[in-house]
This record gives sequence, structure tokens and C-alpha cells, in this order.
Amino acid sequence: MNKAMDLVRGATTTRTATVMGGARLRAAVTTRTATAVRGAMLMLLALALCAANAAAQGQARKGLDVYVIDVEGGNAVLFVSPSGESLLMDTGNVAPGAVRDAGRIMAAVKDAQLKQIDHLIITHWHGDHFGGLAELAPQIPIKEFIDHGPNVQPGQAADDFLAKTYPQIIANAKHTVAKPGDKIRMGAGMDVTVVTAAGEVIKTPLPGGGANPYCSQYKPGDNNAEDPMSAGIFITYGKFRTVHLGDITKNKEFELMCPTNRLGTADVLLGLHHGQSSSNSPVLVWALHPRVAIMNDGTRKGGEPETMQTVHASPGLEDLWQMHFSLLSGQEYTQPGMFIANTVDDPQPAMPVAPMAAPQPGPNTPPPPAHNGTAYWIKLSAQPDGTFTVTNTRNGFSKTYNPKKAS
Ligand SMILES: [Zn+2]
Ligand SMILES: [Zn+2]
Repeated sequence: MNKAMDLVRGATTTRTATVMGGARLRAAVTTRTATAVRGAMLMLLALALCAANAAAQGQARKGLDVYVIDVEGGNAVLFVSPSGESLLMDTGNVAPGAVRDAGRIMAAVKDAQLKQIDHLIITHWHGDHFGGLAELAPQIPIKEFIDHGPNVQPGQAADDFLAKTYPQIIANAKHTVAKPGDKIRMGAGMDVTVVTAAGEVIKTPLPGGGANPYCSQYKPGDNNAEDPMSAGIFITYGKFRTVHLGDITKNKEFELMCPTNRLGTADVLLGLHHGQSSSNSPVLVWALHPRVAIMNDGTRKGGEPETMQTVHASPGLEDLWQMHFSLLSGQEYTQPGMFIANTVDDPQPAMPVAPMAAPQPGPNTPPPPAHNGTAYWIKLSAQPDGTFTVTNTRNGFSKTYNPKKAS
């Protein structure tokens, strides 16, 4: 949070300097005739307004920025295009985490100097994905809401939200029910395609799609009704390619990737359903051939051994970055701390070596290690030539991945 505030303060200072520069220039023209002065001042005012507008629209951006925000094993990823258009994918957890998670999203929104969110995707109707929306919506204008349609997994929280709260939030905005093949406009150089939604997968392969050599290794896997409904997107920016499929499960991964890989390869695989073993089959992960994966896991959610093995065995993988150390990984399956964005409120002197088994959810389950204090995002910045940089904003560790030379 402190770092985010510093960055926000830095941005404010830059704008102030621009205005003061304008004042100095205005002073220099006072010797001219009154008419000339008026003309010059109007021109300078127009220039200053243009500059301020350019800053507000983010026209000075150098590339595509992606903020992977820590919402404690939920999902919230903010994409900001070079022209300043924004896409937020999910809004973190329901209460008691909703205020915290909306605040963490707003810190990223401010860091990106956004005045509005142009598109919001709620991937599916689980409380770790739509949960912070009612807290977020009053804090920033949201121009378009995209979802997969009705909830298919009856549950009190989601059904109440959809009946009472969501219609009010989207009343004055555009509402889109996503279908595979839909495009989301993010400005010049960007292509954003919906590839999964409401249990359907894109029929026509994207450029780069083709045969998938891993289909024979497929093992089925599923978990509930809503995860496979997730709205998922594939993004290209020049030569850079990234994908986020919400929480789609192994069975849906198979439909998307076999017998034909409809996506091709991706430089960065985002999300990974928190690293849960009901998703992340080799037919998806290995066929995408990611150089980097960024996992939205929690302190005791995801990062499961099977997923960690699949990801680390993935051909061409260079690094996995994570939101958290997960107790379900243990030291045996986790990444070095350099690649992990967050600790916990009460850090322990040692982490357990063995992975712990996921506890059955229920009222008697002890809570996972808490992380309600300062949180850090992982920032991904991509260039049209395919170069991208990933930064852990907790420790400043940063790594640039240069484009692969054609072999
Ligand atoms: Zn956290
Ligand atoms: Zn989830």
C-alpha cells in the first residue's frame, strides 16, 4: 500500500510540474500586445489541457500493463492498454474480505492513473470472483459489465447478489453476456478475444492454434457447476500473448484444447484457478507453452502439488510467480520467496516442508493464515515486440524476458 501511495504521489508531482512550467511560459509572453498575450495564453491553456488529458488517458504509457492483485486466493487482474483503456477481471472476495479487496483493487487503479474502468469481467458467480464488486462500484465508474449469464450453481450469496445488488450496479452501464469469439475493444494494437463462457469454448482456432500433442495424456477433472462456466480471454499486444481462463476445470480445458489447440501458445499464463488441481491439466498448460505463469493462490488455497508438478514440467517454462506461499504446497513444491508477492500478517520463522492436505471446508475448519495488512501486486509490463517484464512489488525483484529468436 505504501509503495502504491508513493507512486500515486509521484504521478501528482509530475502533473504539478507541468502546470508550473505552463506558468513560467505564460510569464515570458507578457511583453507582447494584449491581443497577442490573450492568443498565446489560450494556446498554452489548450496545450496544458491536452497534456493533462493525455496523462489522464494514459497516452504516455509505454506498453500493456497488467496488475495481478492479491485478493487472498480470489481473483482480480487489471489490464491497462497503451492507449489507457482498462479491463478488470474479477473483484476479489465477499465479506469479510470485500472492503479489503476493493481497497487493494483501487490502489492498483490509482497506480495506473485510471479515471474509470472501461470493461469489467466477472468470470463466474463464485464469492472469490464477484465478491468485492458492491464495495468497488461506488469508488470508480465502470462502463461495461461482462459476465457469462445466469448463475448455474444455486447458492445464497450469489443468488442474493444477482437478484438484488447486481441489477442496481449495472443499471447505468453497458451489460454484455459474453460468448466465445466476442472481442473486447482495448484500443490500437490490442486484441482481446473471449475464448470461453457459459460452458462454451471458441470454435475457430485463434492464429497460432493447431494440433495438440498432449491430448492423449488427458485425465478428466471437475469440481462444481460454476467454475467451468468461467468467461476466459486471450490477449495479444503485438507479438505478446497472454491468457486468463478464470477457473475453468480440466474437462473444459480438454474441450478447448483437444483435439485442436484453439489458442496456440502464450507468453504468460495468468490465474491458473489459484493453482488448484481440479484445473491445470497438461493438455492446457503444456500446449500453451508459457514462459511465465502467475498464480492467484492464497495462504491455504491452491498451489497444490499436482499443479506445481505440471507447471514446473511444462516445456519452455522459465518462471512461476505466485501471490502467496500456500500451505498446500509446502516448501517441497513452492517457489523461492523472490517470486512470491506476499507474506502473512504473522510471519513464521520457518515454512513447513511437507504440503498439507486441503482441509474439508466447514464451520470447524480453522482459518488459513491471515493476510489483511499491506498487500503487493505483481506487475507485468509488455511491449509489442514481445519483450515483457515481471516485477514483485514487495521486494522489487524484477525480471525481463526478451523475445525468443526464431529458430
Ligand atoms: Zn495476501
Ligand atoms: Zn476462484
